[in-house]
Amino acid sequence: GHGIRIEGLRKRYGQGDTAVDALKDVNMVVAPGEVVGLIGPSGSGKSTLLKCLGAVISPSAGRMTLGDEIIYDEGWKVSDLRALRRDRIGFVFQAPYLIPFLDVTDNVALLPMLAGVPNLEARARALELLGALDVAHRAQAMPSQLSGGEQQRVAIARGLVNRPPVILADEPTAPLDSERALAVIRILNDMARRFDTAIIVVTHDEKIIPTFRRIYHIRDGVTHEEPGEGRSLG
Ligand code: ADP
Ligand code: ADP
Repeated sequence: GHGIRIEGLRKRYGQGDTAVDALKDVNMVVAPGEVVGLIGPSGSGKSTLLKCLGAVISPSAGRMTLGDEIIYDEGWKVSDLRALRRDRIGFVFQAPYLIPFLDVTDNVALLPMLAGVPNLEARARALELLGALDVAHRAQAMPSQLSGGEQQRVAIARGLVNRPPVILADEPTAPLDSERALAVIRILNDMARRFDTAIIVVTHDEKIIPTFRRIYHIRDGVTHEEPGEGRSLG
């Protein structure tokens, strides 16, 4: 495992009179195996931070490291960051965005296949994760046949299948009832420990906020770390 460290990250959109400083001073450290919450009101900079982490846009200043490796430093352009998006950072979105014409196994196996892993091995990896997430019995189903909770677990399997050292989960539980939302958080915690993954969960969901041991609040582009309740997941 590597863990991720973000130091003094800044992002300015535009220039001159119309410039917007969306990120002013973002500092986060997430250890391998750790799940942290990231909470902030609308307009505080969450999407901008996720886009910087996902190498969709390049930050304006600061530094990001995975373990000992610098993955962003001042002056780097987004073209220097492309490899990040594919191999290093896994995403779990609120809407699962499963591909409708691929079955569950191939939805999960697609990313490693695209990365050059032989099909059989990619499918074996997918099945192992689907098993860990208790949806192996749906391996041959099409996405439209799945319940919302099953779709979400398949999306989590897809986010984990390339074993990225970092996972960004954007509102992963918003549409789920309390029991299913807590189940998703339990799974993310299990996966973090099992694969030494650092997981950042961006959320407004009051059902899951008490489960985090540490929370980063972002307000007006500045992060503040606070202890969470760390409520037991049973
Ligand atoms: P959040 O996801 O927390 O709602 P955003 O990162 O979307 O916050 O926005 C942070 C600030 O940056 C807001 O003031 C927003 O209007 C501004 N902003 C976001 N994207 C752009 C952009 N592409 N160009 C200019 N300003 C932007
Ligand atoms: P969300 O917070 O759910 O991502 P937003 O409505 O804040 O949605 O932003 C939607 C899109 O518009 C994002 O890609 C964001 O970067 C962009 N955006 C937000 N604010 C601005 C802005 N002031 N100028 C240009 N683009 C913006």
